Amino acid sequence: MSTNGQIAPLDASRLTIQRAETLKPIPPPGTYGYGDIKTDHMLVMSFDPETGWSPPEIKPYGPFSIDPASNCLQYCTSTFEGLKASMNPAGKPVLFRPEANMARLSSSAARMALPPFDEAALLACIIKLVALESRWIPTDSGHSLYIRPTMIGTKPSIRVGASDHALLYVIVCPVGPYFPTPPGAILHARSVSLLAVSEHVCSWPGGTGGYKLGLNYSLGFSPQLAAVKLGYDHLLWLLPHGQNEFITEAGAMNFFAVYEKEDGALTVVTPPLDGTILPGITRLSALAEVAARTIQETLTSYPEQLTVSSECRRQLTIAELRAEHAAGTLRECFGVGTAVNVVGIDRIGFTSLNAGESSIKVVDSVKPTTGKGLGVVGRALWDKLLDVKEGRDNVEGWGVVCE
Ligand SMILES: *Cc1c(COP(=O)(O)O)cnc(C)c1O
Repeated sequence: MSTNGQIAPLDASRLTIQRAETLKPIPPPGTYGYGDIKTDHMLVMSFDPETGWSPPEIKPYGPFSIDPASNCLQYCTSTFEGLKASMNPAGKPVLFRPEANMARLSSSAARMALPPFDEAALLACIIKLVALESRWIPTDSGHSLYIRPTMIGTKPSIRVGASDHALLYVIVCPVGPYFPTPPGAILHARSVSLLAVSEHVCSWPGGTGGYKLGLNYSLGFSPQLAAVKLGYDHLLWLLPHGQNEFITEAGAMNFFAVYEKEDGALTVVTPPLDGTILPGITRLSALAEVAARTIQETLTSYPEQLTVSSECRRQLTIAELRAEHAAGTLRECFGVGTAVNVVGIDRIGFTSLNAGESSIKVVDSVKPTTGKGLGVVGRALWDKLLDVKEGRDNVEGWGVVCE
């Protein structure tokens, strides 16, 4: 505790940098999986209820030592963020709306009753880390540097309750496309298939789906493995609601559907942030683009009739998707998120549990008329968001350069 009895806030001006003695060789793009390779350094700070935040440190990447009774190991007080750095045309690292990631980490930490931190101070330290690791930023198309801020509860006690100790750290990985593509393939031509499930749910009203908590993901690992066995890339999470099943998210991506109405108008629909949906920054940006209709300018062939009605953010049921598909009006489905940018969904399988059997049987599937890859709306969003993320376009001021 300081002499005036105050605990220390997170203070970026106290950042220390200890450089690695030897730097790792950078593997060529295409030779590593998503998140397997870590860079030379990491950013670490800790919170102690007596003294507050430690001075942040950038130091060589390496393992931690924590008490086996730590709250995060026992009760999953673990929350994270994901953002990417790319090189802009001037050769400087650029981040996409990083303040939004800091705000979301704060909100996730609060949900887990972890101590608060100064968002601007954390971002200032992350910018220093990215600048130091900039030699790791791949310039190949579809590759970038993935930044993973993580906050865990480290109270060294198995007593069930909030952790008043925390570790906040940031690690960095060079990554390629989340869903691997063959060498030379056009990235946005890769689409994914989803298996819709409702016998397992990943979020529910009053639950934690609106926060990036580690425990939201591990509950999906076993159904995800089952979906892969059936030949699907990922899951479409449904939430039973009375007689209906709401579509929530596509794996760890926000879900969008595009319908073509009788007059030829295209309607873009995505579920609202009702607490079961992760408030994705890509989702928010995509909605802003759709609303501003700027995506029309990025595609010369863009249909004039794109209408975005107030129904853009509303509950979507699986029955509705099937009806639109049967009527031939389901034009596109796609998922959005930092990891993928925008990815087309070319097939959604529906399942029913066989009575008396635990195995899943696929009974039907929906195929958006776009088929493989992205349709016009998904493609326009892909182009626009990638231009911003790679620093070619900063009309909205979404890009933050790391210097
Ligand atoms: C991270 C995440 C997203 C995408 O959020 P972005 O901010 O766009 O990266 C969507 N859904 C889930 C469940 C997520 O964890």
